[in-house]
Amino acid sequence: AETWHNVPLAPPDSIFKLTAAFKADTYPQKVNLGVGAYRDDDNKPWVLPVVKKASQILLNDRSLDHEYLPITGLPEFVSSAARLILGENSPAIAENRVVSVQTISGTGANHLAALFLSRYYQFNGDKVVYLSDPTWEFSQGYWIPTLRPCSESLCHLQQCWHQPAFVPLLRPKTIGLDFAGFVAKLESAPERSVFLLHACAHNPTGVDPTKEQWETIADVILARKHYAFFDTAYQGFASGDLDRDAAAVRYFVSRGVPLLVCQSFAKNAGLYGERVGALHLVSPNKETADRVRSQLSVLQRSEISNPPSYGARVVALILNNPELFEEWKADIRTMAGRIIKMREELYRLLTEKLKTPGNWDHIINQIGMFRRVDRFDFGFKKTQSKVLTDDAHVYLTVNGRISMAGLNSKNIRYFAEALDRVVR
Ligand code: PMP
Repeated sequence: AETWHNVPLAPPDSIFKLTAAFKADTYPQKVNLGVGAYRDDDNKPWVLPVVKKASQILLNDRSLDHEYLPITGLPEFVSSAARLILGENSPAIAENRVVSVQTISGTGANHLAALFLSRYYQFNGDKVVYLSDPTWEFSQGYWIPTLRPCSESLCHLQQCWHQPAFVPLLRPKTIGLDFAGFVAKLESAPERSVFLLHACAHNPTGVDPTKEQWETIADVILARKHYAFFDTAYQGFASGDLDRDAAAVRYFVSRGVPLLVCQSFAKNAGLYGERVGALHLVSPNKETADRVRSQLSVLQRSEISNPPSYGARVVALILNNPELFEEWKADIRTMAGRIIKMREELYRLLTEKLKTPGNWDHIINQIGMFRRVDRFDFGFKKTQSKVLTDDAHVYLTVNGRISMAGLNSKNIRYFAEALDRVVR
């Protein structure tokens, strides 16, 4: 038979398919709310001014070369990235028990972490990782290589994982957190289970636990000896404040919850294509950290050999230079602020201007950043999202999730009116 006759055709990636359909549409007022990246008020990608500055510094630096980075990445990048998420005065860092590895952005961090856990984490029975329902749709992708046994020559997985289990996250009525359901799952899962948690600005819901709820979650995780697998792709983007968006992770570390953090600089530094990220694993002591680091290095070596340097250099410059760091914080506030303003304006248009039927409080209750999106309403049907696309040329994913970053002062009125027509 023909070589590769056994390869089935995979469906196209849903977001990229949406983008292609949007591009092909010639309607002048078309709106793309599927996009997973920040856009400015002119609907253009935004290169952060601080990133432009840092790039210029790199360009003028005659001492730089194109040599390989160490396997675990650019040292000044990984150390400052760890301080950014765990805190400037983190005792765990001071005690040398944090293992930090530079990765291919957040996706690579998640993948490397999944690989490491699948090999070394001591599960109590089935190897199950608990994801939220709904979760960022690609989360499941990280686990794909772990879903079936692989031969040692192809990858390092020796054991297979079962399908991820799901934890309820949203209460349909209020589109708020299903806290009771979440805690019940933490309590009923076998001891030493792994729970994937979004550190802030949950994607795709925009719904985060409150401070008190995080405290309860930490209590139960400790009592049940679970493992917290944090994904943080939006530090700074959620509230506009880097420290506030890291609060849950820092609190968990202070409580001694066993955890790791997958960190991405795609959104908060606008470095999507440069693939800048890190995996930080907080271990009980330095001796454990050294062993974990050695094995993460082995895995990293076989996966990507060593990480790319350019984006890491840009971020390291910004994080280690007080002036650039302040400028970055201002740029982050610009992005987060615009998103928050769009939420407020959409809410105002629907509730005051158009008097659209239904409760729209969740638009402003969900925490304000861009890519985590809103389910308008659980009554918002697939067909309505299709009508928005077919009749109004508004592109969004079929679950009714929209990216606030696709809204701007020029199209928000048009969008609100289209939405109003659809739900009436
Ligand atoms: N985690 C979450 C929750 C995300 O939303 C994203 C990107 N949308 C990522 C991780 C990883 O993205 P990247 O690989 O571009 O850093």
